[in-house]
Amino acid sequence: MIPFNKPYLSGKETEYISDAVASGKISGNGKYTQKCQEYFENNFGFKKTLLTTSCTDALEMAAILIDLKVGDEVIMPSYTFVSTSNAFVLRGAKIVFADSLPNHPNMDCSKLESLITSKTKAIVPVHYAGVACDMDVIMELAKEHNLFVIEDAAQAIDSYYTGKDGIKKALGSIGHLAAFSFHETKNIISGEGGMLAINDEQFIERAEIIWEKGTNRSAFFRGEVDKYGWVDIGSSFLPSEIIAAFLWAQLENLEDIQQKRKSHWENYKKQLENWALKNEIQLPIIPDYATNNGHMFFIKCKNIEQRTEIINKLKSKNIHPVFHYISLHSSPYYIDKHDGRILNNTDNFTDTLLRLPLFYELDVKEVINEIIDGVSYNET
Ligand SMILES: *Cc1c(COP(=O)(O)O)cnc(C)c1O
Repeated sequence: MIPFNKPYLSGKETEYISDAVASGKISGNGKYTQKCQEYFENNFGFKKTLLTTSCTDALEMAAILIDLKVGDEVIMPSYTFVSTSNAFVLRGAKIVFADSLPNHPNMDCSKLESLITSKTKAIVPVHYAGVACDMDVIMELAKEHNLFVIEDAAQAIDSYYTGKDGIKKALGSIGHLAAFSFHETKNIISGEGGMLAINDEQFIERAEIIWEKGTNRSAFFRGEVDKYGWVDIGSSFLPSEIIAAFLWAQLENLEDIQQKRKSHWENYKKQLENWALKNEIQLPIIPDYATNNGHMFFIKCKNIEQRTEIINKLKSKNIHPVFHYISLHSSPYYIDKHDGRILNNTDNFTDTLLRLPLFYELDVKEVINEIIDGVSYNET
């Protein structure tokens, strides 16, 4: 059986967890948390990072940090995971959903300006499959209209954007804030887990307080204040050292993991090119300004019937591709709150996008062979 995903252990996860347990400090913000945060800050150019228990939590922290008020509007794609939206809805925001590009689930940035009103507070680009949104356009609009940019970089670790200035920047280091996920389906994992990256310095001090249940506990332990107490709203957003220890073992092997995933991705892309052409299927395209981080290999089928047929054929061979994202604007919770605009490209991806298995230990050649041998639509 070839599943869609299989969590990969790089080797030292349980050793570091044992070490954390033996040290007698297993609550949050200890040695392993510090090691992970320093690694991210030093290697990706994030100004400050805070580990969280999920990307969902990091997005919720971001919504608190920008002081979102009831009725404020937040622009984001409709073709995304529910947390992108939920984090802002929890604070009373109205979500203004943007359509995807015709050939990629990322937001169509050329149409963003028409969605901005006097109530708009933030734009939340999602780097789908780890492929960058056109951040120059987004950052310029944000500057002009005084908006915050919160990158949903859940899938985007170790992926980059090169803008007009020619400087290659890590995704998650460009917006005011960014959220990453270390859920077991992502490239670098800790079971559940996430991180808030803070690039705008004005947010650093308050982010630490929100992270520590609304207290200035972090500043107290650094000796900056002589007692700690309740100073703001917040919640318990920090993970235990057990999770951070697991994550550290993954980070030590980031390069190896990335190399392997990218090589699977390249194999898919090269070997499926002819097959895709013959069957009117689109393979992913990486724009010049973006990089590929090997997070996901998706295909765009001709129509929903073709997708169902491919799924059934592969399942009969015990290979499990999966589709996802019922557009949020037409979800049971939001359909009555949506402003009624039709989002054609979004709906199209809901019907036609299919994700192929991609994980470290995958035998990608086997999947490719089964696809090429078993799935052909030219016969009739
Ligand atoms: C995985 C994912 C999330 C949620 O991450 P968790 O760590 O599970 O909370 C949010 N947004 C996107 C785009 C994702 O892919």
